[in-house]
Amino acid sequence: MSSLWNSVLKLRPQIKQFTVPVRNLNLLEYQSKHLLRKNGVAVQDFCMIDEKGCSEFEKFNVKEYVIKAQILAGGRGKGHFSNGFKGGVHVTTSRKDVDSISKQMLGYNLITKQTPKDGIEVKKIMIAESVTIKRETYVCILMDRQRNGPVLIASPAGGVDIEAVAEKTPHLIKNIPIDIFEGVTDSMANEVAQFLEFKGPLTNLAAVEIKKLWQFFLAVDATQLEINPLVETDENKVISVDAKINFDDNAQFRHKDIFALEDLAESDPREVEAAKHNLNYIGMTGNIGCLVNGAGLAMATMDIIKLHGGDPANFLDVGGSVKEEQVRAAFNILTADKTVRCILVNVFGGIVNCATIANGIVGAMKSMNLKVPLIVRLEGTNATEARRIIKESGLDIQTAEDLDDAAKKAVANAV
Ligand code: ADP
Ligand code: MG
Repeated sequence: MSSLWNSVLKLRPQIKQFTVPVRNLNLLEYQSKHLLRKNGVAVQDFCMIDEKGCSEFEKFNVKEYVIKAQILAGGRGKGHFSNGFKGGVHVTTSRKDVDSISKQMLGYNLITKQTPKDGIEVKKIMIAESVTIKRETYVCILMDRQRNGPVLIASPAGGVDIEAVAEKTPHLIKNIPIDIFEGVTDSMANEVAQFLEFKGPLTNLAAVEIKKLWQFFLAVDATQLEINPLVETDENKVISVDAKINFDDNAQFRHKDIFALEDLAESDPREVEAAKHNLNYIGMTGNIGCLVNGAGLAMATMDIIKLHGGDPANFLDVGGSVKEEQVRAAFNILTADKTVRCILVNVFGGIVNCATIANGIVGAMKSMNLKVPLIVRLEGTNATEARRIIKESGLDIQTAEDLDDAAKKAVANAV
């Protein structure tokens, strides 16, 4: 999703209720832990089990195992499965139990406070080395819009219910703004470690981990790095036991390897298909499929459709440098949605050449059997040529005089 669309969704939250969530890269815990380990942050050893089996587990021998269902949501410890099984995080010393517990997780939906109501299917399970936890603390670094920069949030009362801590005992949470140029200094890391109630030599150990987390946050262009819990073990170690990282989509070009890890199984398939063609797909609840160029024009299109009593089913934003092939892909995505009763193309050609869009539309129409009415409004660069292309194609395309006329026709055709 482009940053422009992200901003639009922030400004117009009413759109968000109708849409799939904004697509920020979000990794599963095991992927986050691989990255953390690579950057020197202390995490436990672990191996993975999926529906294909557990070849890694055969070689993985530790005293006690933690079995953790991998989904893109937190609150797993207190969650439950669609088959009634309780808890997405289990601890056992028996290898047999690892097997039976995994079987009750794999392929079932895990429902937690943070998932949709039907939960999310578990396709992978992490088997980690258990650590004996003496204390659980909370550390999070995030980009804070209000403070225009990164903020470190810390609490000595970490664990599964940080939301309750924030609500009931806010004095146990500290927010510390970080100067982006200075970063997390030694004295700041020490102060946080002490606030987290690490004592004696553990204070320094915790401070070192906090600085590593900051270095990692910077290195990967994260927008959020949440460690809950950051634990103190009975062996006097400080370990990140759970990790949630969000990455800045605008820095994707710097982190192709990280973005390649994205598991698209939980994303809207239309959005995924659109992204493949460099298009932005925004799903909504109405029945008019809209192909537009630019987030601003999409908003105007939505307003004018609503003004005339209609409701958009979606927006496909073809952006500024669209090619014919992308228009064809856009049409395929729009028409695959069975709720779409008519398609409205609303393009204002500034950088976009309207003739390119017209050729794309004509090409797409010829190669597919479009069953819904199509209304086209093309204005701006090369609009006259575009109208000629559409007219001479002989295809059943309704053209519109202006945006108002286009919206009226779309609403009338969407019944
Ligand atoms: P979630 O936040 O999704 O519930 P966590 O990874 O934080 O998942 O696990 C929940 C709780 O399970 C932790 O707060 C901790 O008490 C316990 N736990 C998780 N991993 C381990 C481990 N490796 N060893 C011991 N206990 C663990
Ligand atoms: Mg957690």
